[in-house]
Amino acid sequence: MTVYLVGAGPGDPGLITARGLELLRRADVVLHDRLSGEALLDETRPGATLIDVGKAPGRAAMTQEEINAALVEHGATGAEVVRLKGGDPFVFGRGGEEALALVQAELPFEVVPGVTSAIAAPAYAGVPVTHRHLAAQFAVVTGHEEPGKAESDVDWDGLARFPGTLVLLMGVGRLAAIVERLLAGGRDPAQPAAVVASGTLAAQRSLQTTLAELPAAVAAAGIRPPAVTVIGDVAGLRERLAWAEARPLHGRTIVVTRARAQASRLVARLRDLGAAVVEVPTIRIEPLDGPAIDPAPYDVVCVTSPNAPRLLLERIGGDARALAGTTVAAIGPGTAAALRDVGLVADVVAERFVAEGLLEALGGAVAGRRVLVARAEEARDALPEGLRATGATVDVVALYRTLREPPRRPERALAADAVTFTSSSTVQGFVDALPGRDLSGVRAVSIGPITSEAARAAGLDVVAEAARHDVDGLVETLIETLGADRRATSPQP
Ligand code: SAH
Repeated sequence: MTVYLVGAGPGDPGLITARGLELLRRADVVLHDRLSGEALLDETRPGATLIDVGKAPGRAAMTQEEINAALVEHGATGAEVVRLKGGDPFVFGRGGEEALALVQAELPFEVVPGVTSAIAAPAYAGVPVTHRHLAAQFAVVTGHEEPGKAESDVDWDGLARFPGTLVLLMGVGRLAAIVERLLAGGRDPAQPAAVVASGTLAAQRSLQTTLAELPAAVAAAGIRPPAVTVIGDVAGLRERLAWAEARPLHGRTIVVTRARAQASRLVARLRDLGAAVVEVPTIRIEPLDGPAIDPAPYDVVCVTSPNAPRLLLERIGGDARALAGTTVAAIGPGTAAALRDVGLVADVVAERFVAEGLLEALGGAVAGRRVLVARAEEARDALPEGLRATGATVDVVALYRTLREPPRRPERALAADAVTFTSSSTVQGFVDALPGRDLSGVRAVSIGPITSEAARAAGLDVVAEAARHDVDGLVETLIETLGADRRATSPQP
């Protein structure tokens, strides 16, 4: 029974620490706020109690005293409590006050430091806070205080003379007064300055200018909090180092509806390309029990989904040599890759990710042969029927079934730039998860023609279909579709 003050990092869910993620995943109670990262809440376990202590529509934020009291109250029950805080808990997060309240209540606590936005937001905008010959020191300062205030806690004159990088947190609305104060104290008006709003998130925007021009530039660009301001020569490196905003899918929110167990490759690729990925898994794979399979009598084994190879191998006794004399046919490159993962190289790979494509790839080669089709319980019958029509003797074995999984907060998909569908069952699961909602604005991107058809039938707007019907093809199509309309619609600051 410990209360953990956990730094969530600056927003990109990949930037929480390993320790923080471990605690979040096993917590009984999680107290979070606006800056601690929505996406991370997907990591909590299904039964966990989630308490939003920040502002929400129609309700004021809890005061710090109320938050302290809630921490003590939940901590005292013996539950594992995580207080998830944006960035680092001890950098302008009032984490120290929360820790003191726990000490006062004699409750054990632990602090898990986080990646602070003071360093991470500039880094994602291509600004290193220190740099040889440019900055040998940096100061992190609150911009929350009115710089005109008589007894300011911030030494603005000292900061005006400070020979290093200034990083301002909070107070983008007060920049005019702050800049005026720094200039009056003697800071160089021509010094480079940068602002990074929503750093590390899909909504990240940054701009670079000079100290004197900063307030006007920020106002003109319509920069909104949360934002970090960097003043110093290092801000001039942004031009050359702005890596994050240059990624092909930066600024795009993409929904993945695939079952979590299968989604990892797609999710990782999209994140690598800079997209914010929202996982709304609508289905889950459940292996089916069944008797051992002896592949010896079969001339051909057709494997019709990437879920099947591992389960097939288990059912044949875990020894790939049992398939030594058998032709192994994969329905597409994704399935071929999954076969390779279990030590099997497909002899035949269909180019088109549909049953008809596999029939084509096999050509007439199956007439008079015995064929085993290994697949999902609910799969279409096109393949076995097609095989029989060419004169093959066909057995079908169902290795797994796909089950509906009610996703968390599926309405997030309605505002996304694209919702990806990798099978008809993901379409159906998605539609069922949003009963009564108008889905005509959902920008569906599908893996292939059957899935597109299902999406159109469900009333979704299919904006693109992958030319190659696998994960890589889907990713390529997303880059083409979203990369192109980004250039057309969003002006760069
Ligand atoms: N403990 C936090 C800071 C809390 S104060 C940390 O270590 O990052 C809140 C301020 O942090 C905001 O006003 C803003 O200046 C900054 N901030 C937090 N997240 C940010 C983000 N993603 N991008 C830019 N600034 C951010």
